[in-house]
Amino acid sequence: MTSTKRLTIAMQKSGRLSDDTQNLLKRCGLKLNLTDRRLLAHVSNMPIDIMRVRSSDIPGLVMDGVCDIGIVGDNTLEEAALERKLLGNNSEYIRTKGLNFGGCRLSLAMPEEFEYTGIESLNGLRFATTYPQLLKRYASENNIDVDFCLLKGSVEVAPRVGLADGICDLVSTGATLEANGLKEVEVIYRSTAALIQNPNPLSQDKQAIFDTLLQRMQGVMKAKESKYIMLHAPIEKIEQVSELMPGKETPTVLPLAGRDDLVAVHVVATETFFWETMEALKALGCNSILVMPIEKMME
Ligand code: ATP
Repeated sequence: MTSTKRLTIAMQKSGRLSDDTQNLLKRCGLKLNLTDRRLLAHVSNMPIDIMRVRSSDIPGLVMDGVCDIGIVGDNTLEEAALERKLLGNNSEYIRTKGLNFGGCRLSLAMPEEFEYTGIESLNGLRFATTYPQLLKRYASENNIDVDFCLLKGSVEVAPRVGLADGICDLVSTGATLEANGLKEVEVIYRSTAALIQNPNPLSQDKQAIFDTLLQRMQGVMKAKESKYIMLHAPIEKIEQVSELMPGKETPTVLPLAGRDDLVAVHVVATETFFWETMEALKALGCNSILVMPIEKMME
């Protein structure tokens, strides 16, 4: 069990989620040295320890209370929860927050030449997968009967070597499928990285650390999705300029020294700021249009 004073976070040691997780924690102000091989890393400026493990170990560590919180893909989390439930182990957790990285989908894919005529055409087939529980749940929800063979890696080669008829695997761009002569026929689950916590209440000390961390995470994520826009606009066009600004925030309008025809307009945009909008602003007589990233935000 974890100590009562230091919050323990489980994260992937190396793999697709580890860099983004590490960046998120660093941007939340945590000073961590993850260059060595130790399993447990101490955060030097906050009472937090980081446990670096395989993705598939994270749900269990959080569900069993070994770690207080964890950052893991929904796919791994849901698969572990279903499997642990089946085995009668702890499978309770709280999904505190979805994170804006690690997006992917779990899909069924078949060889290019397979004639797909709908989900029924998959009835009775065998799929290679790392996610048998998610596959079984999908099959039973869709009234089909499928078989599976469990593979922990290189799932996409299974049909070619005669191990399975198709695969049930994670896809982000689809390039790996294409390179292996496979086509995606059904998306069975959509996933992002998520922040999870053990359902038991944290000690007061840990809850306070967690609240701070959560607020910072929200600030980092919001900042990543937002842009700070600055421009100079003709004073008589200010209404039209405001209408072109993306997002719901009211722009700040400031006087410019020595100019009574131009004002400075600043706005935080939470929506994409397109080149077309910049061109439309330019056509209204605006200039010095700057679109800048935001590092941190607190509301
Ligand atoms: P580990 O090796 O740490 O036990 P893993 O085999 O799932 O876990 P990765 O391949 O690094 O390790 O994937 C980690 C997570 O990244 C996945 O579980 C998934 O949530 C996410 N992910 C995002 N895009 C993809 C993708 N195209 N393929 C695989 N995983 C992806």
